[in-house]
Amino acid sequence: MTLQQTSAPLSEHHVGDAPMLIGAAWTEAADGRWIDVESPRDKTVLGRVPRGGAEDVARAVTAAAGAFPGWRDRRPKDRGDLFRQIADALEPEQERIARLLSLENGNAIRTQSRGEMQFVVDCFRYFSGLAGEAKGESIPLNPLVLDYSRREPLGVVGAIVPWNAPLMLSALKIAPALVSGNTLVLKLAEDAPLAVLAVVQVCARFLPPGVLNVVTGYGREAGEALTSHPGVAKLSFTGSTAVGRRVMEKGAERIVPVSLELGGKSPQIVFPDADENWVVDGTIAGMRFFRQGQSCTAGSRLFIHETVFDSFLDKLVAKLKALRVGDPLDETSDMGTIVNGRQFDRVCEYVASGIDHPGADVALGGLPPTDGPLSRGYYLKPTVFATVDNSWRIAAEEIFGPVVCAIPWKDEEDVVRMANDTHYGLAGFVWTHDLGAALRTAHALEAGWVQVNQGGGQVLGQSYGGFKQSGIGREFSLEGMLDSYTQRKHVSVNLER
Ligand code: NAD
Repeated sequence: MTLQQTSAPLSEHHVGDAPMLIGAAWTEAADGRWIDVESPRDKTVLGRVPRGGAEDVARAVTAAAGAFPGWRDRRPKDRGDLFRQIADALEPEQERIARLLSLENGNAIRTQSRGEMQFVVDCFRYFSGLAGEAKGESIPLNPLVLDYSRREPLGVVGAIVPWNAPLMLSALKIAPALVSGNTLVLKLAEDAPLAVLAVVQVCARFLPPGVLNVVTGYGREAGEALTSHPGVAKLSFTGSTAVGRRVMEKGAERIVPVSLELGGKSPQIVFPDADENWVVDGTIAGMRFFRQGQSCTAGSRLFIHETVFDSFLDKLVAKLKALRVGDPLDETSDMGTIVNGRQFDRVCEYVASGIDHPGADVALGGLPPTDGPLSRGYYLKPTVFATVDNSWRIAAEEIFGPVVCAIPWKDEEDVVRMANDTHYGLAGFVWTHDLGAALRTAHALEAGWVQVNQGGGQVLGQSYGGFKQSGIGREFSLEGMLDSYTQRKHVSVNLER
């Protein structure tokens, strides 16, 4: 999507204008500008959201600051109870919102969007139970001094999310920030704001005005205004490493704490004893092919031991060929579309550069079809580059598409060195029956989350986050909530007086 409105036709599922939430009001942008939201399944316009700017962000921060004292001073149990009620109210809306998500970001409804919407309900229930867990401690300093700590909310949180899992990532900011007593201004991704706005409409029926404010707009307008606003006490960002660096710079200007969940180029390591069908299935899940590879944890560097390289690759190619790429709303589609034209062109450019690399071997896929039904949207088939060197650009940079690089290896120490030879450190996957090798490797990988013999998604309760340039701070858990959304205060009381 460009800064200009498109002249594309309206979608058969057109939803009209979806305003943003500031204080108690569902509102358009102060200057009346809008952004078209395009459906990547057929390049039609699904609806419009306000093109929020600095004035809108300022109003949202003022609303959040006004609501903060009352919200902070509510009983934690009452805050938690509201999230339980919101989760109950969302249940009958799940299918409608999951469909909206598939329409706007192109993920297949059966394999992705329903599960992502279910996560929102689970996430709200999980954090509702943690509202009373922001506990302090007492410190035995001296019998005549009572020294205790409190965990207090920070104030107005400014949070920014990307488009690839907008429901999940928004829920992971909204619930922990609010149950721990902060108020929030959430900036949605311009490419996928509609499903989150539908969730927020339900939240707004329960939460007091100003506690949750949601601004739509572009990163360099609404996003920059939020990270620069002096009334924001905490920044929580999920998105690319490049923008994360910028958010951190803005936080540094005012010494505002910053949590960052950023990009990845995660390794999957297949040992010689793991040349089996279930491992192939696991690596496909780990590569997040069912989300067209548009996942920060995608295991996009597949290190296969040289003794089983050809055999494993044959099985991988056969299974990927059987995946059905198609309309995200079609129940038979395993994979949907890339989110928008810009990302589609970017992934195609990576594929073209891989094909052009001397020694490249395209075992499956390649550039997308230019005619037929799949050319009507941003559809890409799974692509496998065989016998890639870890130093090639396609192995070094985050492609964020359904493209995996298979890299042969000989020696355990050497594969760990290659796996860690990246500025990213988000996730890793190890595939072997050899417990010693599995755990040696899991411990040696420089990543915030390593899975052994499974390629699943994040689970509530894990403290999830990145090493190196994949991020700072943790989410998904009680510890993540405490670290990201509370600050400690000590109180020392002299008992002699
Ligand atoms: P992006 O960084 O381009 O955009 C993310 C958000 O930041 C959007 O809302 C955007 O409008 C906003 N933004 C852009 N420029 C900004 C600026 N200057 N100031 C403030 N906000 C700004 O990322 P994307 O393309 O939307 O998402 C894909 C990236 O997100 C990938 O790198 C992926 O790995 C990462 N990601 C990380 C996680 C994680 O948990 N680690 C999860 C999902 C996605």
